[in-house]
Amino acid sequence: MLDLTKFEIWFVTGSQDLYGEDTLRQVAEHSQIISDFFDKNSEIPVRVVFKPVVKSPEEIYRICQDANMAASCVGIVAWMHTFSPAKMWIRGLQILQKPLLHLHTQFNRDIPWKDIDMDFMNLNQSAHGDREFGYIMTRMRINRKVIVGHWQQNDVIEGIASWSRVATARQDLNGARFARFGDNMRQVAVTDGDKVAAEMTFGFSVNTYAVGDLVKVINQVSDEAVDKLITEYEDQYQLVSSLRKGNEKYSALQDAARIELGLKYFLEDGNFKGYTNTFEDLYGMKQLPGIGSQRMMAAGYGYAGEGDWKTAAMVRALKVMGSGLPGGNSFMEDYTYHFNPDRNLVLGSHMLEICPTIADGKPSCEIHPLGIGGKEDPVRLVFNAPAGPAINVSLIDMGNRFRLLVNEVEAVAVDEELPKLPVARALWKPAPDMKTGCAAWIYAGGAHHTVFSQNLGTEQIEMFAEMVGIELVVIDKNTTLRQLKNELRWSEAYYK
Ligand code: MN
Repeated sequence: MLDLTKFEIWFVTGSQDLYGEDTLRQVAEHSQIISDFFDKNSEIPVRVVFKPVVKSPEEIYRICQDANMAASCVGIVAWMHTFSPAKMWIRGLQILQKPLLHLHTQFNRDIPWKDIDMDFMNLNQSAHGDREFGYIMTRMRINRKVIVGHWQQNDVIEGIASWSRVATARQDLNGARFARFGDNMRQVAVTDGDKVAAEMTFGFSVNTYAVGDLVKVINQVSDEAVDKLITEYEDQYQLVSSLRKGNEKYSALQDAARIELGLKYFLEDGNFKGYTNTFEDLYGMKQLPGIGSQRMMAAGYGYAGEGDWKTAAMVRALKVMGSGLPGGNSFMEDYTYHFNPDRNLVLGSHMLEICPTIADGKPSCEIHPLGIGGKEDPVRLVFNAPAGPAINVSLIDMGNRFRLLVNEVEAVAVDEELPKLPVARALWKPAPDMKTGCAAWIYAGGAHHTVFSQNLGTEQIEMFAEMVGIELVVIDKNTTLRQLKNELRWSEAYYK
């Protein structure tokens, strides 16, 4: 689990000097109460920091400048308790590089019918102050999230919590380093893409490292560290007997643990937030990393196979967004179909590398041959993903832009025994139905690689797309193919 408590969102209230000291004092008091209320709420995973009420273009400019500079600040929550003439906000908003949540709330929930007078009206006027603020952001074409409601209402708190998770993921990617061992899997199109454009859009860099340098680190791992890690395996997983100490495959388990520790040291040493590798470039490694990559994901690293750095980065983003929430998320691949008219299903899996955060129960630690890669048998964790709502997320490069796709799916329990398929697996039904969902995905160019998430929903992915300014395509219960094809055509014009 990644620690989000070191991040902050800043609570910024806009006003102006017109109202006099007394009103401004009340504005500040109310803002502080609301800000502290959010800060204390355990659902909001980051700190909420109260900032003094801004009343002039200079103060607004400065708070935006400060927010840009503060590494801990992932975004600003803005609220206009009173009227705050929005030309004052232009220069600040022009330089603001952090996401903005426009909280359209009001200090009082109810109108005090009997006592209401013009003083009350002048103090509590976000209904029109926030419209003025909304206009300037729309006029300036600034993406933001608008949340409406009284600040103590659950859906408002949930909305802020959700937004703060996405803003943290966005901040986390900005400056993130991803290591790429080897190049893209030969001839594969969808996993390739423009790393320069990605760095300009998301802020993360992807650079190549020689697998030989990783192998060097793997070979330096001490026997003591290997033994200690194997104790952890024994605690957390059901080890098959051949892998237990003294049995015939124990040395393969030692190799797998050594690979995991080598990966861990390499990633820590280089301050990486994720990596990708390929079975076509494993020179000097005994096994394709199975359990090692599975556990790196569980520790919060972004990972995807076959050189797919885009999916690796998205796995990391969703790991941050979902940190501490029940359920997990993982690198995933649409593998094979069950075209039974009574029960259409997609079987998702990978050769090895599925994150055990989506395991339903205790994973089994096993060793089996792998027909691909030409290495020794790899150790892997085998498990099923539980039933429940989920999403599949795919980031593709359209040449002139990135497109993020979401398909809402319903995961179903894996009831069948799969004795000859010893890999982690998930089964799901795509929305709105198998045929429409799969056709929509294919029309939209979605990859076979995805992030599968059982702790996040479409709304978070939508916020993320807006924060980084990329196209979003959603396939959900309302999707029809005609409408989707039109949306794709219209998007072509929009992004020309
Ligand atoms: Mn793959």
